[in-house]
Amino acid sequence: MALLHIENLRTYYGHVQALKGIDLEVEEGEIVTLIGANGAGKTTTLRTISGLIRPREGQITFDGEDITRLAAHRIVEEGISHAPEGRQIFSTLTVTENLNMGAYSLGGDTEAIEENRHRVFDLFPRLEERKNQLGGTLSGGEQQMLTIGRALMARPRLMMLDEPSLGLAPMLVKAIFDTIREINARGVTVLLVEQNARAALKAADRGYVLETGRVVLSGQAGELLQDERVRKAYLGEQ
Ligand code: ATP
Repeated sequence: MALLHIENLRTYYGHVQALKGIDLEVEEGEIVTLIGANGAGKTTTLRTISGLIRPREGQITFDGEDITRLAAHRIVEEGISHAPEGRQIFSTLTVTENLNMGAYSLGGDTEAIEENRHRVFDLFPRLEERKNQLGGTLSGGEQQMLTIGRALMARPRLMMLDEPSLGLAPMLVKAIFDTIREINARGVTVLLVEQNARAALKAADRGYVLETGRVVLSGQAGELLQDERVRKAYLGEQ
């Protein structure tokens, strides 16, 4: 059975239906990417999985357990972390304090928190160099590292990342995708939302293409990269 299994997910904002019956699966150990145009429902899918919005219909199963109606903090405890779009870090807290905010699901287990922080610093030495600096004074790339690092502090089994490459210089985009692969190599399953379809499909094992709240195409990432519809609509080719 897949680690994450989603069936017929329908989410609304008031009367606006953002998700119109999404089905998707993520197997343990995979990197799966959701690609699609602005407004396709990618962010809404992640927010529904992490319990920030309630679906009107459908079911989300994680490791065999129905998590559809669990509170957001319980979903983190189950092993799903969400690195949101737009680097929502705390600008008046230091790097270390920001990281600690990601570890609330561990309660007050200071030893575990410290161990996790070491893992994050191992992955992002730049954050360790700046551990006492305020979040708001970090560069865009460093803030993105902090967003990912904070999500890792809960030691997730599944990490969801929303647009990690947004607004970063090309060299940093490559570094972020390398890091995502490294996180995956260390045993974390990844669900990745990206506008940068080419980079996302290159990093991923499988992909889903969303259009106006529906999955219109899915398959192995390598196949999607070759798919004519994907190439025209999402890879900017003629
Ligand atoms: P983007 O790449 O632009 O972030 P997306 O694929 O992540 O797009 P969503 O943010 O999930 O798309 O939006 C899906 C639909 O839901 C869009 O039509 C959007 O306008 C609508 N929507 C999103 N958030 C809200 C909200 N808070 N209130 C009302 N409608 C919303």
